[in-house]
Amino acid sequence: MLNIILGGAPGSGKGTQSELIVEKYGLEHLSTGDVLRAEIKSGSELGKEMEAIISKGQLIPDAKMIDLLDRFLDSLKADCKGVIFDGFPRTVAQAEALTEMLGRRKMTAYMLDLFASEDVITERLINRGKKSGRTDDNLETIKKRMQVYRAETEPVSAYYVNRHEYFMINSNINPDYTFAQVQTIISHIQ
Ligand code: ADP
Repeated sequence: MLNIILGGAPGSGKGTQSELIVEKYGLEHLSTGDVLRAEIKSGSELGKEMEAIISKGQLIPDAKMIDLLDRFLDSLKADCKGVIFDGFPRTVAQAEALTEMLGRRKMTAYMLDLFASEDVITERLINRGKKSGRTDDNLETIKKRMQVYRAETEPVSAYYVNRHEYFMINSNINPDYTFAQVQTIISHIQ
């Protein structure tokens, strides 16, 4: 199985690379952001709680996210070629839980960490917000998400560096150049 954790700040290109990876390698794509937005769209009580958190640019509590992941891993079919984790883990506690959940299932995963500059990221998110109507893609919430990323999510990179399960990617140029790097890395870990 080829299991990939896509790291990187909001707007670093995780969604775009996920689509390209799915197309070429046939992996399952888990975007925790998409799962949460689907819950919100359903109009459930849980969705309402989540919307309040997400629209402020904050993180959903770890326990809820870990539970969601555990259920997702249980739902994987026996012939699954692998998984792209997009948006998880976002805290070191989530990373530790993921290591445990994967270990129990005899799975391992490598982090591919996407780097882009703050001005490029902000421009991408503002443009995305115009098309998608995502309530968290406005300047104020973007700033908050970047702060949360620095404080909570950046330490996850060091966690994977220390486990020797880590690769860095320059995602500041364009999707093609980013995907070329992704493919080279995958050829090393496959
Ligand atoms: P982006 O990476 O562009 O910020 P996502 O679609 O991955 O967007 O996530 C949107 C929001 O959903 C996050 O800002 C956060 O509030 C919530 N979220 C997604 N994944 C997680 C997670 N693993 N832990 C906590 N909150 C999450």
